[in-house]
Amino acid sequence: MPQSSESQSLRVHRKGRKLTLRFFSVSPCLRGKTLFSKQLTFFAFLLLFTVSPSCSFMKKDTTGLPQKYKVDVEQLQVRSDVKITKKDPLFQELTQLRQEISDLLELPAPNRPVIVHLFKDEDRYSEYMQKQHPNLPARRAFFIGSPTELAVYAHWGPSMAEDLRHEYTHGVLHASLHTVPLWLDEGIAEYFETRTRDSKRRHPEHSPKLALAISNGWSPDLLRLEKIETVSEMHREDYQEAWAWVHYFIHDCPDGRAMLVDYCDALKISNQSPGFAAQVYEHVPAAEVRLASYITSELGNNNVVQADGQSVE
Ligand SMILES: [Zn+2]
Repeated sequence: MPQSSESQSLRVHRKGRKLTLRFFSVSPCLRGKTLFSKQLTFFAFLLLFTVSPSCSFMKKDTTGLPQKYKVDVEQLQVRSDVKITKKDPLFQELTQLRQEISDLLELPAPNRPVIVHLFKDEDRYSEYMQKQHPNLPARRAFFIGSPTELAVYAHWGPSMAEDLRHEYTHGVLHASLHTVPLWLDEGIAEYFETRTRDSKRRHPEHSPKLALAISNGWSPDLLRLEKIETVSEMHREDYQEAWAWVHYFIHDCPDGRAMLVDYCDALKISNQSPGFAAQVYEHVPAAEVRLASYITSELGNNNVVQADGQSVE
């Protein structure tokens, strides 16, 4: 079950009429087991995207991008080597996914389009990424938010649907919110990457691993998690915990979804993410104990039903 790749998000803010880079926050997600290596280097990424004042936008060679098939619907733009139409199930899935995310978190209409670049296979995708983003680590898919676009890079293959669901979720969040804290960004993307029919939407990989961690004495810690600001600090276990918190707020915590919605409201206008853990501790006494109990009693059940109807252990 792939979980791990890195998407980057360059969070930029507009000041006046000029596009200025106030700060960078790289928020990679770890996707693609086989390609999983280490976190990308923050400074290399900084260097990669720093533009001089005289350069209006980052120059990018687009000749290698998929351009054969183009489908645009509202704020979703798909560019693919392989034929795709508006009736393609995958396209419909992304459209539905955006609606699902927006409904759950009561997000405003996206103010920027998300472009999905779909390469025909891994070789062509890898060749493009190595040429255009030589400093990025090898990953199965990327989300890169830049001053000019919110872009998902992926390729056709067995993991495409999952990769797109994860990376496109980042795109939807960043198209609707002014800022997104790393833990929430990844927790929500992990939440929506699954296609389970299980009403609980348990993650076939995270659920058993978290239950095992609890049995081995591990405890969740939201305050610690939300202090993580860079990819280099965020490890695979942190993605699991981020997923667990999001899952808990949505499915079990009283008023949990409302707290997430209110928090997203604040993120629509915030330049810097306000703290969330303090709000949680105020409204949910012993939140960590409750989450641990939830993981053990609910998420630890391995009988997860996938979209194809099969149960996985
Ligand atoms: Zn991610």
